[in-house]
Amino acid sequence: MDKIVKQFLDEVSARNQNEPEFMQAVAEVAETVIPYIVQHDIYYGQNILLRMAEPERVLSFRVAWIDDQEEIQVNRGYRVQMNSAIGPYKGGLRFHPSVNLSVLKFLAFEQTFKNSLTTLPMGGGKGGSDFNPKGRSDTEVMRFCQSFMTELYSHIGPNRDVPAGDIGVGGREIGYLFGQYKRLQNEFTGVLTGKGASFGGSLIRPEATGYGVVYFTQKMMEHQSKSIKGKTIAVSGSGNVAQYATEKCIQLGGKVLTLSDSSGYIMDPDGINQEKLAFIMNLKNVKRGRINAYVEQYPKASFHSGKTPWEVPCQIALPCATQNELNGDDAAILLKNGCICIGEGANMPCTPEAISQFKENKILFAPGKASNAGGVAVSGLEMAQNSLRYSWTREEVDNRLQVIMADIHQSCLKYGEENGYVDYVKGANIAGFVKVADAMLAQGVV
Ligand code: NDP
Repeated sequence: MDKIVKQFLDEVSARNQNEPEFMQAVAEVAETVIPYIVQHDIYYGQNILLRMAEPERVLSFRVAWIDDQEEIQVNRGYRVQMNSAIGPYKGGLRFHPSVNLSVLKFLAFEQTFKNSLTTLPMGGGKGGSDFNPKGRSDTEVMRFCQSFMTELYSHIGPNRDVPAGDIGVGGREIGYLFGQYKRLQNEFTGVLTGKGASFGGSLIRPEATGYGVVYFTQKMMEHQSKSIKGKTIAVSGSGNVAQYATEKCIQLGGKVLTLSDSSGYIMDPDGINQEKLAFIMNLKNVKRGRINAYVEQYPKASFHSGKTPWEVPCQIALPCATQNELNGDDAAILLKNGCICIGEGANMPCTPEAISQFKENKILFAPGKASNAGGVAVSGLEMAQNSLRYSWTREEVDNRLQVIMADIHQSCLKYGEENGYVDYVKGANIAGFVKVADAMLAQGVV
């Protein structure tokens, strides 16, 4: 089996050179899905995973714009339209200086499996730019978004490709992007999700990814007759996902000790409560400040410059910042300190070395494509509400989100449970694969 997996990865690697993040994501899926393909005649010999690892379309374009000093700036924009077998391409836009084709292809590949798991009809895509919104004025961000959308608009649409937010793209950016799309197309449609509530956005969409991570984590704990209540929790990041994961942990009685950004992490021995979280939300979403401001406001907390939170003893770890932020050394420390559960809020935050250790020690580990699928799931619900020209209440959307996260957990059990141990990576990969593969086979070689 190892030989077949290696042959496959060599072939994908040969045609995607210098794309380490993309290869990391493909390898993680291949290791669990290829053994399944080999055992199932309908998939074997169809080159189905090779087809899934090749984007249907990749767009790359110039984004020129004028900054506040009247200097002309040039960025690169992308959209990777990965797979449309089960629905229109769907996935976020990331604005961050680290964005390149390898990062977006890994995210689009993951997204295809994740969207399949949600039970909703959405294909996989991802896009973004190497534009850095940090330190830019609102008008600069608006001009950038308008220039970006002026190229992108002809490639997307409510039945073709429906982008959303991701790192560096929140409610402000989605608003500017939507405004420009509407102006160019002269149409008010559900072409983007994560919109403001006054122009078609779904209630609970801002909360959905973070809440979903915690709903999924709670399901894993319950499956072992445990609970989040009373547990110590380390969260990384302090953006959209980290904020709402923290909020839901607080609501369920967990004690969140840490939050972070790219400058370091803060540790609050008393735990972050709702009032302290409101301070963080204002700091990050309105003032656009740095995390160390927390310790000026709450002096019992400490700031650890240039470090990640995984050295803090905790029972549950929720990495919610970015890819490869938790490595093998971090995993060893978490295990030594008695951590029993990891729920990935970010996409691919744990390195392969970290994941191997979690599996070897048989602790609970949820891969992002299962545990952070709540965001895109509620985006799918936003698309449905836009098509109906109707809005559901907070309770209705939250209930649907909880049902979807429970269904994803059940799918992971179906394909990943063996001898009392649940391999959530295997379960999520195979469950995500089966639906997309069946649709692709039915649609012929296209
Ligand atoms: P935000 O931009 O709101 O927040 C990102 C957070 O991560 C910030 O605190 C940021 O710190 C930190 N961060 C980003 N890059 C790095 C880095 N290289 N090193 C250390 N910290 C970093 O993004 P989101 O919360 O939306 O996204 C976080 C993760 O969750 C991403 O992996 C994203 O793909 C994933 N995700 C998001 C979904 C969503 O609905 N938003 C859905 C599913 C997954 P700083 O401000 O210093 O850069």
